[in-house]
Amino acid sequence: MAGEREYDYMFKVIIIGESGTGKSCLLHYLIENRFKKNTNHTIGVEFGCKRLNIGGKQIKLQVWDTAGQERFRSVTKSYYRGAAAALVVYDITNAESFQKIHSWINDVRALAKPNISIMVVGNKSDLKSSRAVNFVEASCFCQELEVLLIEASAATGENVEEAFNKLASSVLTKLDGKQL
Ligand code: GDP
Ligand code: MG
Repeated sequence: MAGEREYDYMFKVIIIGESGTGKSCLLHYLIENRFKKNTNHTIGVEFGCKRLNIGGKQIKLQVWDTAGQERFRSVTKSYYRGAAAALVVYDITNAESFQKIHSWINDVRALAKPNISIMVVGNKSDLKSSRAVNFVEASCFCQELEVLLIEASAATGENVEEAFNKLASSVLTKLDGKQL
């Protein structure tokens, strides 16, 4: 209703990672609750909004998708600006996409803000038979970098909402501790 506060907090969340890891599909699943097989590679930035209730607080996530910019290493600074949280995605069947995670995290910390909440997502967990990235190794790596880790699937929906929920909770915790 006009004039009424619709939410307690709104956070900008960015999705980043190598091309083909399933970033657009994750966003699509979060918003539409279904798998979108054929995502197009239109250049630009796409958004999605998602409402969550965390501990009684109404949270509105404004989620940004690179929409293909990362293929040309041309993700603009404005993409990162003001982000409270980042989902950094690799594909569990593609070791190279995992090796690039560190460099994406560095970009996020440098171009957004150093204490931004980061959730690393090992996507395509439905393809475990083709797994190329060990979960325990990924966990150790993420612990060292002090970022969260979850395996998810934009095809089955496994852990998609959980990933965004945990990320938003992490931002809220920082807000409570006034670290933002
Ligand atoms: P982006 O370049 O990171 O945005 O990746 P897309 O979202 O365009 O996905 C790249 C390809 O991976 C597409 O062919 C998708 O259908 C496929 N894909 C994305 N997520 C999943 C997943 O969780 N499981 C499987 N099996 N395929 C996926
Ligand atoms: Mg995409």
